Amino acid sequence: MKFVGAHVSASGGVDNAPLNAIKIGAKAFALFTKNQRQWVVKPLEEKMIESFKANLKASGVSPKHVLPHDSYLINLGHPEVEKLEKSREAFIDELQRCEQLGLELLNFHPGSHLVKVAKKDPKYDDKIMEAELNCLDVIADSLNLAIEATKGMNVKLVIENTAGQGTNLGYKFEHLAHIINKVEDKSRVGVCLDTCHTFTGGYDLRTREAYDKTMDEFERLVGFEYLSAMHINDSKPKLGSRVDRHHSLGEGEIGWDTFRFIMNDERMNDIPLVLETIDESIWEREIEQMYEMVK
Ligand SMILES: [Zn+2]
Ligand SMILES: [Zn+2]
Repeated sequence: MKFVGAHVSASGGVDNAPLNAIKIGAKAFALFTKNQRQWVVKPLEEKMIESFKANLKASGVSPKHVLPHDSYLINLGHPEVEKLEKSREAFIDELQRCEQLGLELLNFHPGSHLVKVAKKDPKYDDKIMEAELNCLDVIADSLNLAIEATKGMNVKLVIENTAGQGTNLGYKFEHLAHIINKVEDKSRVGVCLDTCHTFTGGYDLRTREAYDKTMDEFERLVGFEYLSAMHINDSKPKLGSRVDRHHSLGEGEIGWDTFRFIMNDERMNDIPLVLETIDESIWEREIEQMYEMVK
């Protein structure tokens, strides 16, 4: 069975998110549990936690189909110690907020190496490769520290693949595998595949053949046992462009066939499939369209 929803607003309080989810017929949803553009916010109050749990229960959405997303400020691979520390602290706080809300997943982007190398540098490729590998190790350390700091909590750290814009890592399945390999407690780690990021990261999904090839590669390098969620987006930029710009389903470069393959792929059963498409006024219709494609 498939659980499709969208990244809904939590403005006015996290307890509004389940209400916003039911309005669009969502069977899963994503949310920010704090203002995603601020480092520090006040802790969740007991009343808010109770209200969130009550609204979630009433919505019929299972806690395992809720996919909180961490703050965009966090960079778990930051090259500067002070900023890395700040990111790690904020990330642990995000995990604790998920636990308080009774949620089991935390979705995040791996991190960025921020190393600047001149394009004309004769050693450009080597230097970028080295920066990437170092950064992936730092990210894995960050995850190990976060898992250690939240021992006993039932919250999975869900690494999202990225488009690879700028110096963002996670645009190759090898990056995800590298991080997972270095995480000590593998029961606490998962992956979220974003269809737009997968596509602009260089993996085609548009035909049956291309989709199967990309998913086989994911299975070979990462493994579907780690697939914990998906972001369902069409893409404005072209295949392999390494640019992160989402589009409404069927309006972009990816097209409906890919979403039909996903809706009929058993490997995507029982995980949150979350729209982050650009026109929220049509989310309800997009969710319906996703279900209409199930054979
Ligand atoms: Zn995404
Ligand atoms: Zn994106």
